[in-house]
Amino acid sequence: MSRANYASNNSRPDSDQKKAEGGLQRTRNSMHRQHPWEEAHEQNHCRRFGGDADADADAAARQEKKNRANTLASEVRRRLLASIRTLEQTLLLEGPSSSSPCTRKLGILLSGGVDSCAILAACQASQANLVAAVTVSIQAEPDGENNNRDDQGPSLLRTPPQDELYACEAVRLYNTNINNATTSPHPKLLEHSIVRLSPAQLIEHYTKPTIAALHVWGYMDTRNSLIISAGLHECSKLGITDILVGDNADELFGGSYDCYFDAKYGTDPEGWKRKRDGMARLPFVTQKLADVYGTTSLEGTNINTYTNTLGLTVHQPFTDPTLFVDWALQTTTRTDCIDVAKTCRLQSEYTGPYTTTSNTKCGKLPLREAFCTVASWRQMDWIFRGSGAETGDALIQYYANSLGISEAEFVAEQQRYKTEEGIGLQSKEQLYNLRIYATLHDGFYHPTKQRYPIGDPRGCISCCFEIGDEQFCHLCDAYPAQHPSSINSKTTKPSLA
Ligand SMILES: [Zn+2]
Repeated sequence: MSRANYASNNSRPDSDQKKAEGGLQRTRNSMHRQHPWEEAHEQNHCRRFGGDADADADAAARQEKKNRANTLASEVRRRLLASIRTLEQTLLLEGPSSSSPCTRKLGILLSGGVDSCAILAACQASQANLVAAVTVSIQAEPDGENNNRDDQGPSLLRTPPQDELYACEAVRLYNTNINNATTSPHPKLLEHSIVRLSPAQLIEHYTKPTIAALHVWGYMDTRNSLIISAGLHECSKLGITDILVGDNADELFGGSYDCYFDAKYGTDPEGWKRKRDGMARLPFVTQKLADVYGTTSLEGTNINTYTNTLGLTVHQPFTDPTLFVDWALQTTTRTDCIDVAKTCRLQSEYTGPYTTTSNTKCGKLPLREAFCTVASWRQMDWIFRGSGAETGDALIQYYANSLGISEAEFVAEQQRYKTEEGIGLQSKEQLYNLRIYATLHDGFYHPTKQRYPIGDPRGCISCCFEIGDEQFCHLCDAYPAQHPSSINSKTTKPSLA
């Protein structure tokens, strides 16, 4: 949400492009701040570019950096607004003044992080017809209710995960702005659905559709996807047809990944750019997960029962090649994206202090500065942690202790799968997933990958499925996945002769 929208009770969403694009500078000039994150937004900007201008010999250089940062943030804002407007036009969603019926319903997966809150802010600024936000919240103690509407805010009976806290506040402010809007008719209020699940509910309800969508049993691809699956399923139950997600913001603008903060790039900005440029063009699995939901039941026992063509359509503004990917890769550098001087302060908990530490990783600066939201300066959290699934190792503990697989059974099965199928198992979690995979796929088959005999170098060393030149096997988590004997022959390029 833009600071302009918070600035007074008479504020209203920006109603035209010029206002929206100019909002960044205008909000920085505002002296009236209602919320701590607005203060943090202002202060972080001052920390990055402040100083005694008249007495500072580096004032001109600093001003130049400030201008560049402002330009990039404005550009990110403009492009995200353009993306939302294009989406609205594409879907032919009815605007607040339209009376024509529309069969499409737009929602957002709202984790309460920098990216999804920026998209929510862009929806408000462009008066998008957004009908629902969905947040997944994992807690070790089930509260007896699966899906709870957020009518009274977070439950007082438990400590909600950080994602839920940030998301609730973001939606509350979004709806406050609508209620205070002076435009007529008002845009619709945003429904917020919080999917509250215990680890058992998350694993038992969503492992099967996740594996059906992705055709893997490794934990690297399934764990985070369980949470996305739960959110997408709720969207489908709410009648949402189109869902906005923040995919690729981290990859594009230097967020979350440890590799982006490696000290070696301090003297190798081109190396950082090559790394980023490679990661920012990788595909996401979100649409595959969404394809499962729509017309089919979750009770399917075979992969074919999950095949449908009327699933949710996922919209990922930050993967748009023209609006975001090409532009960001050509324009932004390591120092544009990463707070290399460690001047910014981040908040690790909702209502917590804004602090800086030696290991603080602050990336995505152009996106953080593009919109002043409750999460603009939130510490980066993977959804696995922010959703609460990592709290107290809740999910890991469930996999280790509550799947009904004893140590003796696991060891015996580990040996059997290795001997009979050439499949290595690292954990009970993998065994649980593998059994579901085998049930869904009528054994060890894959829709597109061939399976080779045990020991065949064309197959993954730990599951025998076709591995090509990959070093990591998405099916089984093996790394390195190549047979030692085949590494040289596969990485040596064939001669042109
Ligand atoms: Zn494998």
